[in-house]
Amino acid sequence: LQGYILEIRKARDEDTVVTVLNSDALQTLYRFYGARHATVSIGYKIDYEAKESGRSTLKQLKNVIHLSNAWYYDPEKFYHWQHFLKLLFKHLRDVEEIDRFYYRLLEKAETLLDRQNPARVLVESYIALLKHEGRLHDEFICFVCDRPVEENLTLGRALLPAHKHCIYSNVFEMEKIEQLYASGSTLFLEDHEVESLWHIITQGF
Ligand SMILES: [Zn+2]
Repeated sequence: LQGYILEIRKARDEDTVVTVLNSDALQTLYRFYGARHATVSIGYKIDYEAKESGRSTLKQLKNVIHLSNAWYYDPEKFYHWQHFLKLLFKHLRDVEEIDRFYYRLLEKAETLLDRQNPARVLVESYIALLKHEGRLHDEFICFVCDRPVEENLTLGRALLPAHKHCIYSNVFEMEKIEQLYASGSTLFLEDHEVESLWHIITQGF
């Protein structure tokens, strides 16, 4: 199996409980401590086996091989990536059936991160996620007062449109956000605008 590590929790002694997103499921696995085991971190892509274990109710994470990317060693990229995967874990942890979409989304982002700015890649990934889940509000109706937003557009959590006077947040150029929501691309946005969007996304999916 191959998957992305979305969470690592401490268990007994030096053992850990590791949650991996593979193409079909979110798997929670027990990892017994072993001095010669490869170290794992949130964000790593791994090849692994999930085996029944007499020692634990969870299946056991075994035979881990790193499928590293060169950009894992770029601290800024890896920090953004880990942050995104932690948010994704919170978003998916109670979902019974995981759509293959999420694994593919990470695969695509991982490829793009090799040569693009991390905030741009992950803002675009998040827009794709909202679109997929039918939660992208591209008609600008304020989520606070329920009236159309005609100027001074701001965005709340999950990039929900709002009036500036309703949530007192950063104003975005309406046309640019329209383009972003229609195309899924940040091409028209300045770096500082992308950073503002990323900041909103980090409040939670
Ligand atoms: Zn409003």
